[in-house]
Amino acid sequence: MAWWNGAVLIAVVMIPAVPLAWAVGHWALLAGAFMAMTSYYCVYEYIHWCMHLPKARVVERAGFFFRLNGHHLLHHRYMHKNFNVVLPLADLCLGTLLRRSKVSFAQTRGPAVPDVQPLIATSPIVGAPRCHVGSERSEAAGRTVASPAISAPSAERLDVSRRTVA
Ligand SMILES: [Zn+2]
Repeated sequence: MAWWNGAVLIAVVMIPAVPLAWAVGHWALLAGAFMAMTSYYCVYEYIHWCMHLPKARVVERAGFFFRLNGHHLLHHRYMHKNFNVVLPLADLCLGTLLRRSKVSFAQTRGPAVPDVQPLIATSPIVGAPRCHVGSERSEAAGRTVASPAISAPSAERLDVSRRTVA
């Protein structure tokens, strides 16, 4: 993301506040909306940064961060789920909330990362780790199949895998 993207996003979300402030005749409403949007955006950027580049910061030990980190981890596994990083309320309202993965996958581990694997293990091998690197279980056929979504490297996946090392 370019440095100016944040300013543009804040300006765009300010658009509805302008006619509202004009209609009620209180331009302080515009200042309040600007402070709220800027604060929200800064919190989003900071938390998202901490999720992808963990460094044992104080915020990473907080319970809310632990939950949000699992929420966001699932977003990178299921790109059409868990859009909200800071406040998952919209995911709940719009039906995009996912609490656990539907299949086992290679997820990062750490003190600030919850286990988002299925409650029922999808591995057919008793005693084997539930994670399958580069493959996932086909629930219908009961066999292991290559999954392009998992095995295809991307910048985000590489970023997530680095979290295990840190
Ligand atoms: Zn992310």
